[in-house]
Amino acid sequence: MSEQRWIVGVDIGGTNLVVGVVPAAGGPPRALRGRATDAARGPEAVVTDIVRMAREAVREVRDVEGGAAADVVGIGVGCPGPIDRENGVVVESPNLRWRDYPLRDRVEALVDWPVVVDNDANCATYGEWWQGAGRGSRSLVGITVGTGIGGGYILDGRLVHGASDGAGEVGHTTINLSGRRCACGNEGCLEAYASGPAIAARAREGLELGAESVLHALVENELERVTAATVYEAVLVGDQYATGVMTETAKFLGAGIANAINMLNPEVVVIMGGVTQAGEHLFVPLKAEVRRRAFRAMADACRILPAELPNTSGVVGAAGIAAAELGMLGG
Ligand SMILES: [Zn+2]
Repeated sequence: MSEQRWIVGVDIGGTNLVVGVVPAAGGPPRALRGRATDAARGPEAVVTDIVRMAREAVREVRDVEGGAAADVVGIGVGCPGPIDRENGVVVESPNLRWRDYPLRDRVEALVDWPVVVDNDANCATYGEWWQGAGRGSRSLVGITVGTGIGGGYILDGRLVHGASDGAGEVGHTTINLSGRRCACGNEGCLEAYASGPAIAARAREGLELGAESVLHALVENELERVTAATVYEAVLVGDQYATGVMTETAKFLGAGIANAINMLNPEVVVIMGGVTQAGEHLFVPLKAEVRRRAFRAMADACRILPAELPNTSGVVGAAGIAAAELGMLGG
């Protein structure tokens, strides 16, 4: 019989739903499985998938590792949007188009385990702190660059949630008072410049003005097909225009990160998401911008790192947050 305790981790993404089983004491996730979230079906259909996938994953782990049903001690669920953690309610998720949905109670009604719900960027940040690029650090800011820009802040091994579970929204800090319109309704948020769709939109604008670039060929002159991923692809083959777009992106992110560093003085900043594929084309200008803007002692004290768990930080972090909440972790 196995002495191991396990936690199920669930990452509800705007695009993909991923479920895995994580050792409560730490270790890589097992029995990972995913499918399209397809949130338009409504939250009940997604909850049905979560429960089915969690049961399958637990069965698979038991088949391989042995052990009993009681060895699974909880389930952590990461979900986009502001979360009321105390009540386990998704207050509003523009990505999923869910509102005031009692996610924790709905999952808990169908499984035998206690359920802990947190924001998806908090989960990814916690995953990178617990088992990824930020292992062993005392203070860490995580920034997820995808459809939006999310963030999380860990101090002394605990997520900082703030007064209403909203702490860490670095993507919606203002970097330009009268700048680009953001999905949140404000103008000039970091997200409006450096999220995946914003990178694509900025690239497209230059192409429409006649910039020469391999991007034209990559999308067969259908500029609406330009995405952040095609921009990274062009950067990696040495395209000058795309590299310029990436340098600008790095400056925007660098400004946002310098704001976070000056505010929080973290030991580590972890950047997560497809944007890290641009490698040194991102990190060299980004770090230069941070040095230009952050106080030197704080910039010196901070390591800025790419994520180490690009596909699983959300699952690992959701499980880790649940493990901590359920008293399975020290600290
Ligand atoms: Zn915003």
